[in-house]
Amino acid sequence: MQSVLVSGGAGFIGYHLCKLLLEKIFEVYCVDNFLTGSQENIASLSKNSHFHFIEKDVTEREVCNVFEAISFSAVFHLASPASPNKKSPRSYIAYPIETLLVNSIGTQNMLEIAKKHKSKFLFTSSSEVYGDPAITPQKEDYFGNVNPNGVRSVYDEAKRFGEAITMAYVRKFNMDCRIVRIFNTYGPNMQKDDGRVVSNFINQALENKDITIYGDGMQTRSFCYVDDMVLGLTKALFIDKSKGEVINLGNPDKRTIAELATIIKDLTMSQSKIIYESLPEDDPKERKPDIKKAQSLLGWQPNMALNDGLRKTIVYFRQIRQT
Ligand code: NAD
Ligand code: UDP
Repeated sequence: MQSVLVSGGAGFIGYHLCKLLLEKIFEVYCVDNFLTGSQENIASLSKNSHFHFIEKDVTEREVCNVFEAISFSAVFHLASPASPNKKSPRSYIAYPIETLLVNSIGTQNMLEIAKKHKSKFLFTSSSEVYGDPAITPQKEDYFGNVNPNGVRSVYDEAKRFGEAITMAYVRKFNMDCRIVRIFNTYGPNMQKDDGRVVSNFINQALENKDITIYGDGMQTRSFCYVDDMVLGLTKALFIDKSKGEVINLGNPDKRTIAELATIIKDLTMSQSKIIYESLPEDDPKERKPDIKKAQSLLGWQPNMALNDGLRKTIVYFRQIRQT
């Protein structure tokens, strides 16, 4: 059985990735320090005897020694706070230094582990490297429009550094690495308080509290269901021709935030009022992935329609309210 290492498996996407890898009969090792992830995700994965958890901060150099004896065929580096919402205790605004370090030093440590074992390596970058994009849809060869020192820079610039060091290891050591730029992903097991728009709107709607649109709600995002995303991540890693490539993964079905609020209110049959609050600094006005490269290189495209994925996510949030 092949062994794989996943950093960030206590988090939202990492949890689903570990679950899929276990289904595909891998021996899965996960490293996480619970900065923004949850014990419940690890408890659920630990029911499978092929899952192994190590609680550790991947920015500590010692993490490389922990795994010395295990020969990994693949390393997925997902560890990083990911929510931009300053009202959330789990956001990268709450953890600015940690976010910079996990995507820089943390990425180098994970690359060193992969180098030692000659493993394949995947870095999860973000659509945030495009900043507030001046072109749409965003294609991998677009360099972006990023504020290098604004509030979001701790994440945007950290992801850009993570991309740069990943490519440096490809060029200098001929390593088998790829970079995936993930666009807004949602689904069950998002943290209730992580502050991202889908979890916020669903929880507000289920509690009949005001649904908070930031700005005028005309900004757009494209939402990808998590099962589609983790399938894309495994394809991106295991297909050989992806070595050294940068690949967008996301759902090109672009919606305004106002439209998302109305859909969620309708699906939950909520009595909530929709209200408007101020728009956070440097909030991108537009986001839509160009996924032609993922389609041609990986034979991947998302399948879950937004309303169907939201229904599944609503079921999850209803369930956790009752437990
Ligand atoms: P998440 O916050 O739910 O999960 C991140 C996990 O990383 C958490 O379990 C956290 O505890 C762990 N972590 C953070 N710092 C760590 C450290 N120093 N050492 C060990 N573990 C650490 O976030 P997510 O939504 O699952 O995102 C996963 C990855 O995908 C991140 O790299 C994120 O930047 C990227 N991404 C996500 C989205 C999205 O829409 N969810 C979009 C773009 C990119
Ligand atoms: N947003 C909102 N209300 C909320 C949370 C977010 O209107 O309660 C908006 C946010 O300002 C942004 C979009 O929804 O324009 C997506 O935000 P999210 O935090 O999910 O991630 P982003 O795509 O900005 O990284």
